Amino acid sequence: MSLTVRFAPSPTGLLHVGNIRLALVNWLVARRAGGTVLLRLDDTDDERSTPEFAAGIERDLGWLGLTWDRKARQSDRLALYTEAADRLKAAGRLYPCYETAEELGLKRKSLLARGLPPLYDRAGLDLSAAGRARLEAAGRHPHWRFKLDHQPVSWSDLVRGPAQFDGADLSDPVLVREDGRPLYTLSSVVDDIAFGISHVIRGEDHVANTAVQIQLWQALGGPVPTFAHLPLLTDAAGHGLSKRLGSLSIASLRDDDGIEPMALLCLLARLGTADAVEAHLTLAELVESFDLTRVSRATPRFDPEDLTRLNARLLHLTPFAGVADRLAALGLDGVDQRFWLAVRPNLTRLADATLWWQISHAPVTPTLTDPALTRQAASLLPPEPWDETTWGHWIEQIKVATGIKGKGLFLPLRLALTGTDHGPELKSLLPLIGRPRAVARLNGLLA
Ligand code: GLU
Repeated sequence: MSLTVRFAPSPTGLLHVGNIRLALVNWLVARRAGGTVLLRLDDTDDERSTPEFAAGIERDLGWLGLTWDRKARQSDRLALYTEAADRLKAAGRLYPCYETAEELGLKRKSLLARGLPPLYDRAGLDLSAAGRARLEAAGRHPHWRFKLDHQPVSWSDLVRGPAQFDGADLSDPVLVREDGRPLYTLSSVVDDIAFGISHVIRGEDHVANTAVQIQLWQALGGPVPTFAHLPLLTDAAGHGLSKRLGSLSIASLRDDDGIEPMALLCLLARLGTADAVEAHLTLAELVESFDLTRVSRATPRFDPEDLTRLNARLLHLTPFAGVADRLAALGLDGVDQRFWLAVRPNLTRLADATLWWQISHAPVTPTLTDPALTRQAASLLPPEPWDETTWGHWIEQIKVATGIKGKGLFLPLRLALTGTDHGPELKSLLPLIGRPRAVARLNGLLA
């Protein structure tokens, strides 16, 4: 059987770094093995799922380059879930229950008060035909629970190692709601069987589901896949990410923070492994270096500052061809490789390039801290054409003429030429600024 994985987000919100780590790990495992990726939208909850969130998921994955080979939407497949539920009913594995949410809440409370685990008591199983008829006549509709075998369930988890549960310690899960709609526990297994999913790679919040779902796989006659449950990301202080998910959404990292897709992917591919984070320019390089067995059970911490640093490192490596279109889209008309190579060592975000573009292509108000020096420096500027060696020759001449060197020389020149006290190397900026602007600025003129 060829390797097939799925990424199965529910379109009930924006994708965030935690979701993308799972999407990426699935994707890398599949691409490394020459396998297949299914994107499945788990949208059976039609109160919370929206087409806008579904479109956002596809947009975010597309932006990251996490392609899929097949796509499915659970809302298109409801008949299959009903058919599977009917088979389970016929086999005596799905039974009707009539408790209201309040009644279930009271049962739970009373078990907990007695120090007992809050397991469902299987009252539905004991209902007689007459008892059911009475409830239905009173207007009650059943929800349906899966009758678990009270037996050990075990699997060998690719991240957690040997895992074991006992069916007797779990509540029979509800698979079909009162209104007839299937729940995730059922629809997910039906689809995993239908699409031949060989590896289920998901968050460790699903470990108990796996115990239940393995019995469901067996009841529905599908081959049980291999499982890997990854620990959930926390923030740098070790707290859950749930409160910060808005700012850690892919949309916000992309649109507000200027994060490059590969920066995010390079960081997420290595979080939770002992391997160093490396800046790779392509997903193909990440595929080559990825190994699921390196992902540990320890809680991985996500620090946005690591991401910012990696973003900068990645931009510093990016060739002009990799950003030319985006720079043009930022309004840098006629931008060329010379400009890019001059400014990229100073960028944390691509959009920061616009600042250096303005400084080299638009009027700047110079800051004169030593007017005598900068005026004299202007008079020593050689004729164009200029290149990266121009600066060194010019500086030598100024030193000889004025006897000034070091910071006392460089800072007044930088402030006059660029209006700011930091930025790309002046030997690279000077040819971009050009002689007319340089002369004017050194003389204190807006140019
Ligand atoms: N829609 C489920 C979730 O987002 C999918 C879990 C799974 O991978 O089975 O948690």
